[in-house]
Amino acid sequence: MAYDNDNIFAKILRGEIPCNKVYEDEFALAFHDINPQAPTHVLVIPKGKYVSMADFTAEAPDALIVGFMRAVGLVAAMLELETPGYRVLANAGEDAHQEVPHLHIHIFGGKKLGPMLTHS
Ligand code: 5GP
Repeated sequence: MAYDNDNIFAKILRGEIPCNKVYEDEFALAFHDINPQAPTHVLVIPKGKYVSMADFTAEAPDALIVGFMRAVGLVAAMLELETPGYRVLANAGEDAHQEVPHLHIHIFGGKKLGPMLTHS
């Protein structure tokens, strides 16, 4: 899928719309989800035009992949989620209900998160 420069996270990265920022470095931006599904629900996005994890890991420079993944772990630690625990999740494509076509990792925490998938 071609990258859509007008997706909402591209606009957040360009500073055209605001976000409630948790962390930023040269590789990644982390901010609170506008519609949280858990007491802590943060999104971490890479600073680059990548739609999905497959797109990102195939196309991004090594330094960006390393920096982005480090940022995900750092944010989880910053939010003090290592204990009692947290979940990371990245939706890709239609079957996973990906709404925003810019790679993002959800970090959920702050409650017992239940089974990994709902059975519907
Ligand atoms: P997806 O379904 O693509 O994995 O998740 C997209 C997430 O982005 C959703 O959890 C949704 O609440 C969040 N989201 C959508 N628009 C905005 C926005 O403008 N700001 C923030 N902070 N989150 C957003």
